[in-house]
Amino acid sequence: MNQPEIEIVIPVYNEIEIIERLHSRVTATCMKLNRNFRITYIDDGSGDGTPNWIADHAIAGPATDRKSIEGQRHSAATATNHDPAISRGVIGQVALLKLSRNFGHAAAVHAGIQQSTGRCVVVMDGDLQDPPELIEEMVSRWESGDEIVIAQRTSRQETLFRGIAFRTFHRLFGYLSDADIPRNTGTFCLMDRRAVDAISTMKESHQFLPGLRAWVGFRQSLLGFDRDARGAGQPKQTFVRLFRYALDAIFGFSFKPLRLLTVTGATVFLFAIAVAGWFVVKRMMGWEMASIGFTTLMATVLALGGFQLMALGLIGEYIGRIYDEVKNRPQYLVADRIQSEVRSPPQLHNAENRAA
Ligand code: UDP
Ligand code: MG
Repeated sequence: MNQPEIEIVIPVYNEIEIIERLHSRVTATCMKLNRNFRITYIDDGSGDGTPNWIADHAIAGPATDRKSIEGQRHSAATATNHDPAISRGVIGQVALLKLSRNFGHAAAVHAGIQQSTGRCVVVMDGDLQDPPELIEEMVSRWESGDEIVIAQRTSRQETLFRGIAFRTFHRLFGYLSDADIPRNTGTFCLMDRRAVDAISTMKESHQFLPGLRAWVGFRQSLLGFDRDARGAGQPKQTFVRLFRYALDAIFGFSFKPLRLLTVTGATVFLFAIAVAGWFVVKRMMGWEMASIGFTTLMATVLALGGFQLMALGLIGEYIGRIYDEVKNRPQYLVADRIQSEVRSPPQLHNAENRAA
């Protein structure tokens, strides 16, 4: 059972109000799939007891068999009907990967992807905005040959301000970025092992999953869904964090901002030469110069100075990213990992055993 067929990766950060509902909905969906599964929670340094709830209820629950992952390394790589675990009624696993602190949503997702072993991996948010029930359809598309199935929001419930911010970002990104990312898609998706392996090897320190997923290619399809409002609690991605994520998306996938800078600079330069030439001619012909006054000078100096500072900042965005790449620090550290098995409900299990 070391390689489940379907692995669900869910980053959670202070989701104590939701975790119980989330776990029961995800488990219910997994049970329906009739394939062996693993639900992997990535605890991104929660301080509110979320990992304890997972350890005590999802992992050490009555129908589970708690085990350290290390102890399982020797077992067969792929589950088959001869797998002793299956004959014991084991249909899945629940795992908890605790990161050593809060590394942020993107890093937590990357941790989940890198540490996963499933033949296909579903990535979803842990705030019930991504309905777990959609996984069934994703899996059936995967079975019929799609290697990446991306959930696409047909509607979304957000506050007015966040809604406008998301729309602006998607427009801006569409224009600025070279990556061809389908509109209104986020992290929620299913990926085949081949795509997961490709993404796991990407070492860049600012990971933007929708971009990397578009980059790897393979056979992709879109699956529409209505995005619910958050199950409870406040968004854990603060606006500042989302803004940083947006910058990563833009600067991580395109040189276009630099090119725009070059084009703007060249335009200003041509304009400057024309104006300068005009002044020289005026001077040489002895025409009157007094029309250029203090206001014009100040406006020009300030506008150009501002533009230069902005350009420096923009170049700085790229240099900062180069600095991060050169340092090559890991994007996350794992503090602990626990895992347990999920058995089929007792009556089902006994019936199966009798039938066998
Ligand atoms: N999350 C995380 N680390 C963080 C922030 C968020 O693992 O530092 C998780 C969070 O628990 C949730 C998911 O990432 O499961 C999406 O977060 P949120 O709903 O706050 O993001 P938004 O919906 O605003 O994009
Ligand atoms: Mg959310």
